Amino acid sequence: MTFKARGPVQPAGNRGTELATTFQYDVVIIGAGPAGMCAGMYAGRSMLNTVVLERGFPGGELLNTEVIEDYPGFEHVLGHELAQKFADHAAKFGAEFRNGVVVESVQKRPDGMFEARTESGDTFVSKSVIITAGGTPIKLGIPGELEYAGKGVSYCAICDGAFFRGHTIAVVGGGDAATEEADFLTRYAEKVYLIHRRDELRASKILQQRLFANPKVEVIWNSVVDEVEGDEQGLVRNLKLRDVLTNESRDLAATGLFVFVGFRPNTGIIDGHVDHDDMGYLRTDANMHTSIRGLFAAGDVRSQLTRQVTTAVGDATTAAIAAEKYLKALADGDPDEPIEGTGGYTA
Ligand code: NDP
Repeated sequence: MTFKARGPVQPAGNRGTELATTFQYDVVIIGAGPAGMCAGMYAGRSMLNTVVLERGFPGGELLNTEVIEDYPGFEHVLGHELAQKFADHAAKFGAEFRNGVVVESVQKRPDGMFEARTESGDTFVSKSVIITAGGTPIKLGIPGELEYAGKGVSYCAICDGAFFRGHTIAVVGGGDAATEEADFLTRYAEKVYLIHRRDELRASKILQQRLFANPKVEVIWNSVVDEVEGDEQGLVRNLKLRDVLTNESRDLAATGLFVFVGFRPNTGIIDGHVDHDDMGYLRTDANMHTSIRGLFAAGDVRSQLTRQVTTAVGDATTAAIAAEKYLKALADGDPDEPIEGTGGYTA
């Protein structure tokens, strides 16, 4: 993959560091997960001067997923391989990737331009922004969870699973992520307990079937983890479980706890009010336009029924094409012109 370097257009001057620079683009895409990379590909194909800003490396959740088998045309592909293909494809059409760039805030200025400020002090100014920043794993908020993070508590099976070869571990959650990763973790662990707070999983049926067929997995229903306990070496050794129906507590000797209880959208960087749902996911119209004109959202940050790679790239395609139409309206001197599609329904 190639990363094209573009030069600064003007020095920022007063950000407190001589190296701080202001860059100018048509479209700034924040986050290089599947949505960001797909938006980059479409914006690049539209010949828009496009940059994809990523705090780590391109891939997003694909880098936390061992195998993808529900992306059409790829019956079985490793997450990191698909990520590389996405990144190469976007770069081929001219999207520029900047890795290790942490965006701290995005603001629409009175002159209608967007300003994305980064941790390093650099500023990216653009006519349009597509936010594809995904989400951050939700924590359980129990004693010991943060204390033992990285010492037995993990939020990423593919990153940390191999540390638990031959161990007895637990997974918390009942969604697709918990179910899929509990199954995956049996490659390493001798025994995996799936702890779920209800008597029914919300995961898709095929993932449930696989889980129930795995002899190394045992589901502990109607239970929560109240506390993570460690040993004198500072590693996880025990979990305090509670049955939510009987309120009885018990110990589970486990050396690992993987938490998959959902994601919180990374929308905190948006400076100013933007319409969102109760969980903080951004609401958009059918064109992926948020309530801030010129700011589009795609993928896991967006309020929607499900969050898959397929839905992320669908969102991103629409967002990039809508952004192009928005830029055209802007160039025509009519930034408030509605972005017209061919469809839509009337009630
Ligand atoms: P979900 O929101 O789907 O599931 C979260 C799970 O955690 C639920 O079972 C919920 O319980 C449980 N939970 C939430 N809070 C707590 C808590 N404080 N204590 C204990 N349990 C808790 O999140 P996922 O990360 O699993 O999935 C997110 C999205 O990504 C979904 O749309 C999913 O379909 C998709 N995804 C798809 C995959 C695939 O298709 N291969 C893989 C991974 C994710 P309850 O059910 O009681 O609410």
